[in-house]
Amino acid sequence: MMIPPLDLRLQYQSIKGEIDGAIQRVLDSGSFILGENVRRLEEEVASFLGVKFAVGVASGTDALELALRALNIGENDEVITTPFTFLATSEAVCSVGARPVFADIDLDTYNIDPEEVRRKVTKKTKAIIPVHLYGQPCRMDELIKIARDHNLMIIEDCAQAIGAEYKGRKVGSFGDCGCFSFYPSKNLGAYGDGGVAVTDNQDIADRLRVLRVHGCRERYYCVTRGRNSRLDELQAAILRVKLRYLNKWNEQRIEKAEVYNELFKKSGLSEELAIPGTIREGRHVFHLYVIRLKQRDELLKFLKAKDIIGAVHYPLPLHLQEIYKELSYKKGDLPNAELAAEEVISLPLYPEITKEEITAVAEAVKEFCCRL
Ligand SMILES: *Cc1c(COP(=O)(O)O)cnc(C)c1O
Repeated sequence: MMIPPLDLRLQYQSIKGEIDGAIQRVLDSGSFILGENVRRLEEEVASFLGVKFAVGVASGTDALELALRALNIGENDEVITTPFTFLATSEAVCSVGARPVFADIDLDTYNIDPEEVRRKVTKKTKAIIPVHLYGQPCRMDELIKIARDHNLMIIEDCAQAIGAEYKGRKVGSFGDCGCFSFYPSKNLGAYGDGGVAVTDNQDIADRLRVLRVHGCRERYYCVTRGRNSRLDELQAAILRVKLRYLNKWNEQRIEKAEVYNELFKKSGLSEELAIPGTIREGRHVFHLYVIRLKQRDELLKFLKAKDIIGAVHYPLPLHLQEIYKELSYKKGDLPNAELAAEEVISLPLYPEITKEEITAVAEAVKEFCCRL
């Protein structure tokens, strides 16, 4: 029996009645774009996260881009972010004409290292984009202090971390803006693309609302250069059903990650595999369960032969991507991110995965390690 990296069908089957009903009601209503479901989802997401405003948009990538625009970041500005994230983070920076500056990560969490951020600040720096990678919160206190010291804004990339907490507060509520993705595989996934940008600042929320509808405050009267980046009613209706289960699903992810951790500890492999921990002040919601091993590529093949499908998030750090040649980074510049890219492997994890499946994966990893 194959063990996939994730399986979205099981979750749908568990709430099929509610989802199908919600979809049917949207079809019957005849309202498909920016209607009642989007408005109410925005209220429910804001209340879940403990922020004042949420603005639904077409994707997590758009949430980042529109947040940057809403904060007036553009040409000649620098934005410090992590080189070890999904491409969309820095892509959004380039989309608004600003320059991404990469600061190395901390290998314990794979998140941006605040000390490295401080070293990269220049006169041109306008913002920091911390990414709560794999569902693990960044050390926000230190990042907020750096932002205060240098008068920088913070946009949190929370695409992988909805429900994660730092010192009892949800991620996304710390920065000037928090950006979330509803891509189907994320902890709160739609059945298509979607995203949301959140903020406590009324002006920023207003600007986001204008930017997502062609720069119009009033229909057909354009006040600024905007985009078409709307969340649709079908996705919003689906997400409203799923949001009610998010805490439960995140708890299941945490529990299942703990099962992996315990099995690896029992086999004496926890050090060798650098099993993930949660930072002391945080709640890690395990979008992914990631370990590290020098022989990563061989392990992937070994697992595949047993029908266990691992994955690599991410194989090439952003500073070494072809598109960023002009930024003149070279191999060796950000050693932690480079090492992570060579050694990380994501093992199958999703709320519905069974303990038997996790045990089979852990056994296979152990078998591989014994052969080394
Ligand atoms: C998924 C993801 C995004 C982009 O979200 P989309 O909804 O796919 O556009 C941005 N940043 C990170 C870290 C992500 O994982």
